[in-house]
Amino acid sequence: MGAYDDLLGYDRDTQALAQVAGRLAWDQETVMPRGAAAQRAEETGAMEAVLHARRTDPRVGDWLTAAKAPDAAGDAQLREIRRAHDRARKVPADLATALARLTSRAQGIWAEARAADDFAGFAPTLGEVVRLRREEAAALAEGGDLYDALLDDYEPGATAAELAAIFDEMRPGLVALRKRALEAPAPEPVRGTFPAGAQLDLARDLAARFGYDTARGRLDIAVHPFSSGSGDDVRITTRTATDDPFNCIYSTIHETGHATYEQGVDPAFRLTALGRGASMGVHESQSRICENQLGRSRAFCHWLYAELRARFGDIGVADEEAFYAAVNRVHRGYIRTEADEVQYNLHIMLRFDLERALIAGDLEVGDLEAAWNDRFEADFGYPVDRPANGVLQDVHWSVGLFGYFPTYALGNVYAGCLYRALRREVPDLDDHLLRGDPEPATVWLRKNVHRFGARDLPRDLITRACGEEPSAGPLLTYLEEKFGALYPG
Ligand code: ZN
Repeated sequence: MGAYDDLLGYDRDTQALAQVAGRLAWDQETVMPRGAAAQRAEETGAMEAVLHARRTDPRVGDWLTAAKAPDAAGDAQLREIRRAHDRARKVPADLATALARLTSRAQGIWAEARAADDFAGFAPTLGEVVRLRREEAAALAEGGDLYDALLDDYEPGATAAELAAIFDEMRPGLVALRKRALEAPAPEPVRGTFPAGAQLDLARDLAARFGYDTARGRLDIAVHPFSSGSGDDVRITTRTATDDPFNCIYSTIHETGHATYEQGVDPAFRLTALGRGASMGVHESQSRICENQLGRSRAFCHWLYAELRARFGDIGVADEEAFYAAVNRVHRGYIRTEADEVQYNLHIMLRFDLERALIAGDLEVGDLEAAWNDRFEADFGYPVDRPANGVLQDVHWSVGLFGYFPTYALGNVYAGCLYRALRREVPDLDDHLLRGDPEPATVWLRKNVHRFGARDLPRDLITRACGEEPSAGPLLTYLEEKFGALYPG
């Protein structure tokens, strides 16, 4: 066997072990006994050590030097294996250990500070996290831009400057749209009784409609919904609130979008470096297009309105139009995860600009809360009332996730581009959505995005699928048309 085959054989076991590690994390969030937390931390730590050792194994470097790929997909395999190998080797072991230890402790300190509305109680720890992540970024960047080095983990090939250009183009339009929507009378929310069991029945039905294969997946309950796994074992979670069916409905459709992406990857890539989504941004585009462009569309809401009344009886809204307005309600709020389609991206841009300044060394952690509050009031039009609703609301920074936030908004941008191409190529899509059937859309996504896995860089993948380079235009047009009609000025 040649170096290429030896390397792929070795990497296959690494990929399989990484799937096992992912399943441990799934277990921890769903069914693990409460008393198992300390033992699980040790089990996870041992697993991570094995994975790190395999990724940095000197034989991988030798094979990479000698390997000749048989085809273009083989070139992509080498690129992705090299990426993981280089990343693991560039960061000194003692720094990696210090970061892991600090961030697991910092998460608890953040949770306490958030409960106590006390940013000052968290600031020194966050300062340490920023310091170590900057050190790590310097090791990865080798003289290049620090933030770009962190971003590359989540969105290969993207740069902060390029994302900033896209976001800066979107921001004025979104602020104007937000202003207009919040000045109009607020639509009525739905009201009724929505038993958890009946919501879960609906969630299973929705997941199947959006193409989820339960022979290779399962749906469980978790506090924060997520999807996990690749290939033939891709699991999703959801949650229910008995007074609000939308929480369960739209988090299920969202996670289904992530899961069908993983399930739709070419089986030839299973348990290889290409057997997963291309990036966090492309992943988020798949969940968002299902949740928003399809699931919150007027046509799908026609079916969903009748379906909810059949399952739950009276839901307190006058008619189908009022239901559509309730689904797409733009409302005042401080929390990113509860934000509507218009304000969500403003939340992300705020975090992106602040974390970029932190990593660049242009903003001190001590000034972060004030910077957050100023920016929030400028973009949202009302002041933050307390730190738990502001700078302390997200877990990300406490666990060191710098460079992750912008992929959420980039996912929306990609979703806007993909949706435009989808509507062009499937002109009768609404006829299907009216019957609660998004299948022509999921088939199109599988053909143009899913099956390629991580073979192409995100930008190339989206450009090929859409027939044009990704840009903010299609998303802005979609939002302005949709919310302009819902909130005529
Ligand atoms: Zn998501």
